[in-house]
Amino acid sequence: MQPKVLAVRDVVGELALMLRRLLREGIDLKLEHGSELWPVHADEAQISNAIINLVVNARDAMPNGGTVTIRTANETTANASALGTAIMPAGEYVRIDVADTGTGIPQEILGKIFDPFFTTKPVGQGTGLGLATVYGIVKQSGGFITVDSEMGRGTTFRVYLPRHHIES
Ligand code: ADP
Ligand code: MG
Repeated sequence: MQPKVLAVRDVVGELALMLRRLLREGIDLKLEHGSELWPVHADEAQISNAIINLVVNARDAMPNGGTVTIRTANETTANASALGTAIMPAGEYVRIDVADTGTGIPQEILGKIFDPFFTTKPVGQGTGLGLATVYGIVKQSGGFITVDSEMGRGTTFRVYLPRHHIES
């Protein structure tokens, strides 16, 4: 880990070209950035890795095309019990959403998707390590991740990274 002060907007911006190359024909990538995003303190390569994993999953969930939207925003959270598969602690976070218009995730497997080696993809197409990796990265960065999914409509993963306060 080599954490440093990061602007999430720039991290996403630098990935955009390669993400567009990674997506299939028929899949659009939209970027929607919140204004005056707080800085975070995290390892840029790791955060990039997490975003790439989420976008690859989004692509795989849209065999007939669709849209991936990466949305960023500041969010002050309140304590909440179980949202998706995660517990949400109270605090100030920069949120990175990766939303797709794909197949959705069946309720029965939502509790397993972050488990290492859990995959619904054919042998050779999925290792089941993507979301386990994302989960580890987000935890190491002091944040958390939630997922919302609706069958036939799509899935949104939300990565929350703690706000970094720059002393002046
Ligand atoms: P892999 O992509 O190798 O299967 P992951 O850990 O990245 O492993 O994902 C685990 C499983 O979670 C996938 O096989 C798939 O069933 C489900 N999944 C993850 N992201 C999405 C998504 N955006 N839409 C639908 N299903 C998803
Ligand atoms: Mg994956």
